[in-house]
Amino acid sequence: MDQARISIVVPAHNEAESLPVLRQSLAEALRGHDDHEIIIVDDGSRDDTLALLRKFAEDDSRLRYISLSRNFGHQCALKAGLDAATGDCVITMDADLQHPPRYIADMIARWREGYEVVNMIRRDEGAPFFKRVTSKLFYRFINAISDFEIRPGAADFRLLDKRVVDALCSMEERTVFLRGTLPWLGFKQCDIEYAPERRAGGTSKYDLRRMALLALDGITSSSTRPLRLSTILGVVLAGMASLYATYALILKVVVGTAISGWASLLIGIMIFGGIQLLMLGIIGEYLGKVLLEVKGRPTYVVREQSGTENVSPVARLQARLHDSRAV
Ligand code: UDP
Ligand code: MG
Repeated sequence: MDQARISIVVPAHNEAESLPVLRQSLAEALRGHDDHEIIIVDDGSRDDTLALLRKFAEDDSRLRYISLSRNFGHQCALKAGLDAATGDCVITMDADLQHPPRYIADMIARWREGYEVVNMIRRDEGAPFFKRVTSKLFYRFINAISDFEIRPGAADFRLLDKRVVDALCSMEERTVFLRGTLPWLGFKQCDIEYAPERRAGGTSKYDLRRMALLALDGITSSSTRPLRLSTILGVVLAGMASLYATYALILKVVVGTAISGWASLLIGIMIFGGIQLLMLGIIGEYLGKVLLEVKGRPTYVVREQSGTENVSPVARLQARLHDSRAV
C-alpha cells in the first residue's frame, strides 16, 4: 500500500517503564506503513531497558536495538540511531511519549508534500513552569550568541529525509548538537505544532546541570561568536582605561591634585581579572572542543545490537573509517 520505508529512531536511557507503552502506540501509529523499522538506542541504561529491547527484537524483526557501551548522552544516542537507519525518511522522538506518536501521520504527509525536514514545535502551555522558563532563557541566550537561529520549543522530535540524514552522517563532528547543525544544513524545512504529553513513566534525565552543559556544548559547537566577545570587550575596556588615564593626568598637571583611593584600584583590578579569566575560560572551552575533534574518537561505542545484517551503508562506511584510523 505504501512504498516508502520509514525509520523511527528513539534514544532511551533508563526507560523500561515507558518502552512497552511506546511500542504499543508506535504500532498503532504505524498501521498502514508496513515497511518500517524502529531503532531504539539504549544509551547505557542501568534498568531493564536492554532486556526489554532484546525481547522486543525477538518478537518483531522490524524493531531493532543498539546498545551503547555507556551513557553517551541523548545527542550521541540519536546520532547512533541515525547512522543505523535505512529508511527513506527518519523520525526521531523521545522514548517517554512526550513526543506523541500520533503525529507521525501528519509528519509523513508534510514530507510527501516535499519538505525534507519537518520540525515539531512544542506548544508550551502544558509544560512545568520551571522547564518553560529555563527553556525560554536557554533559547534566548543561545540565539543571542550563535550564528543560526534555533527555534524555541524545537526539541529532537522531527522527520528527516534520507538526504538530510546522509548529509548529517557524513559530517565528521564529534560534538553532536542537532538543533544547531540542522539550521546550518539547510534543506526545505517546515514546522508542525504539537501539544506535549506527560512522561509515560520514569523521570526526566535533564536536571539544571545537564541543561546548562547542553547549552554550553550547543553554543561552543555551533558558533564562534563568544570568541569575538573578548576582542570587543578588550577594545571597549582599553578605550575606557585610556580615557580615565588622560583624565587623571590632566587633573594632576592642570589642577595639581592626584586622584587617591585604593578602593577604586582594587575594584578595577578585580573587574579586569574577572573578565580576563572569563575570556580565558571561553577560549579554553573551544580549545577543549578542538582537542576532542583532533583526537578523532567515535561519537559513541556500540556494545551490542540486533539485526546487524541490516546495517545502513553510512554506518558501514563509518565503521570502516574508524577501523582504518585505528591502524
Ligand atoms: N536520553 C538519552 N540519554 C541521556 C538522557 C536522555 O538517551 O543521557 C533520552 C531519554 O531516554 C528520552 C530522551 O532522551 O528518550 C529525552 O530525555 P528526557 O525525557 O529525560 O528529557 P526531557 O523530556 O525531560 O527534556
Ligand atoms: Mg522527556
